[in-house]
Amino acid sequence: TRKESSAASDVYKRQERTLSIIKPDGVSRGLIGDVIKHIEGRGLKIVAMKMLHLTQAQARGFYAVHRERPFFEGLTTFMSSGPAVVMVLEGDNAIARWRELMGATDYRKAAEGTIRREFATDIEKNVVHGSDAPETAAFEIGYFFNRFEILA
Ligand code: GDP
Repeated sequence: TRKESSAASDVYKRQERTLSIIKPDGVSRGLIGDVIKHIEGRGLKIVAMKMLHLTQAQARGFYAVHRERPFFEGLTTFMSSGPAVVMVLEGDNAIARWRELMGATDYRKAAEGTIRREFATDIEKNVVHGSDAPETAAFEIGYFFNRFEILA
């Protein structure tokens, strides 16, 4: 029946997930709590989290799409310069909502009230990362977490 099939589709409906990183500048400046306050305050659910110190090779793999860009060496050196916090966020439209909360890549162009506008100091040292599309989110989440580490 229609009722049963709609109940069944609810079972399979999963909210969107995105990868979030508090970059080494955010961790070293003591901004972990501030970033998490923004995330939880906007109703995004943290379903996985860990702290790690990337090697430059791991940072290069993560940012492989940018390997031809002039800032690639600087970016991967920065991303492997100290501990970072990686998280999986879940919610309706989580990818776009997290990017909106982060603000524009260049903090000088970021909207008032966004994390980058409030905390970033540089176009590169911009405190946070967020996936930009469902395919990137799937790659980035899989880069750091296996299925048992994501608590739905
Ligand atoms: P995002 O999705 O807003 O993080 O931006 P991008 O995917 O375009 O770039 C990835 C990261 O590379 C940014 O978050 C910055 O840390 C860094 N980045 C981007 N553009 C520049 C740039 O023009 N110069 C430098 N030094 N770093 C940049």
